Amino acid sequence: MKQYVPIIGMEVHVELKTNSKMFCSCANNPNIDTPNKNICEICLAHPGTLPVPNKKAIEWTVMVGKALNCHILEFSKFDRKHYFYPDLPKGYQISQYEEPIAEHGFIELDFAGENPVRDTAKIGITRAHLEEDTAKLNHGEGGSTLVDFNRAGVPLVEIVTDPDFKSALEAKTYCQELRSIVRYLGVSDADMEKGQMRCEANISVQEVGSFEIVDGVVKPLNGTKLNNKVELKNLNSFKAVERGIDYEISRQISMLEKGETWVQQTRGWDDNKQETVMQRTKENAADYRYFPDPDIPPFHPLQIAGKISLPELPSQKRKRFNEEYFLSFSDAKILTDDKTLANFTENVMSELHEWLDTMPESENKAEKFPQKISRLAGAWITSKLLGILKEKNMSITDVKFSPENFAELIALIYNNKVNGTNALKILLIMVGLDVDKDPTHILEEKGWGQVSDSGKIETLVDDVIKNYPDQVAQVKAGKDAIIKFLIGMVMKASEGSADVKVVEEVLRKKLV
Ligand SMILES: [Zn+2]
Repeated sequence: MKQYVPIIGMEVHVELKTNSKMFCSCANNPNIDTPNKNICEICLAHPGTLPVPNKKAIEWTVMVGKALNCHILEFSKFDRKHYFYPDLPKGYQISQYEEPIAEHGFIELDFAGENPVRDTAKIGITRAHLEEDTAKLNHGEGGSTLVDFNRAGVPLVEIVTDPDFKSALEAKTYCQELRSIVRYLGVSDADMEKGQMRCEANISVQEVGSFEIVDGVVKPLNGTKLNNKVELKNLNSFKAVERGIDYEISRQISMLEKGETWVQQTRGWDDNKQETVMQRTKENAADYRYFPDPDIPPFHPLQIAGKISLPELPSQKRKRFNEEYFLSFSDAKILTDDKTLANFTENVMSELHEWLDTMPESENKAEKFPQKISRLAGAWITSKLLGILKEKNMSITDVKFSPENFAELIALIYNNKVNGTNALKILLIMVGLDVDKDPTHILEEKGWGQVSDSGKIETLVDDVIKNYPDQVAQVKAGKDAIIKFLIGMVMKASEGSADVKVVEEVLRKKLV
């Protein structure tokens, strides 16, 4: 039985959120409701108009290149890519062919916790170049199509990787990391649903041992003829990236097992049918006749961009969250994925660490556990807070409470002033409020403070012992597991406020 492996490379387009378009001063706002509002002679390609490159877009592409460890070229230029389609009024797209702004970079990925082929990978970045977006075609009823030029000329960065991915999971992880990076850089919102980030994959399944990859180029070994690659488009979500690639790998393997081959082709992912469908073959692919755009002089990207300092990137932040806040890799990943959530977490943590520092040395010294409180806070954000937000279809930007008050809730839990059940109820109230309310006030108003006073608990325990003689007898006869039932009854009687440890202590003292 022959063994097969996939060769996968990714091409991702990211819309930059500059104020104006790539080559004219029209507003860069492709998703407004009024069609053909942000248009001018330049983005409509009237004869005699001249494109002027957007300085910010070049600067941001340099930033993207640097964040992806690329070499920034000293000489870069724009080229014309010719093809005819109604979404392209000039008959060519201004893109970059031979001298992209950035090339030869890499990105390091970590797949821990996802049952990967390998735990980490260094993926080569072939290039990152700048181009203009096309108009949007709106296909209406009865076969009519309307053209909206609001998107024509919006700056796009295209990032191409080497064929270094070994699975669909790796390709998906890359797209997620790339989205995080451009969001951290503040150059794009990279919302896939809005088309601000578009992913395409190149996939070909080969026989094991039939090829090697040298400097990002696939080379056949022992005179083998390699199988053709399939370009996969229409991957509009991370799930689609993973499922589409997985589907394509299986499809190609089953063809090879039947002794079949295929021509180079472009296929689209059909999300409804959950399969890839043929769009076109290489035979009718366009020859783009690239040549340098004579209207735009070549340029030196670094001179235009000036001095660039990168912010802390997601991978660096993850590492720091892991080291400073003692968070697991997967928790750190969840918390750093989104910049707002990462900032919220940092503010909560610094509040808690400060609070620990102000605790008098003499007393409570034993309770100063930065590690314990950090992990507690991390767990409450990832599981409880994010769980509630997901359920309510909200995001961290929707909550009105401050990191200070969230930190106070964690401090209350840490100091056993409230038990987990009631803390969760308080958090639910905080999420639902339109104001930033102090959790201590909520706790006092509701009377949800933890009762650790053994006198009060003793009264509750006595009642339970009186009301459940059968269970009491069983515990006394050695069925220790039944004590859980009695603890539960005491907790219920206290409406969840009793300190469960004290309850168990008192019960055991009275029964054993
Ligand atoms: Zn314009």
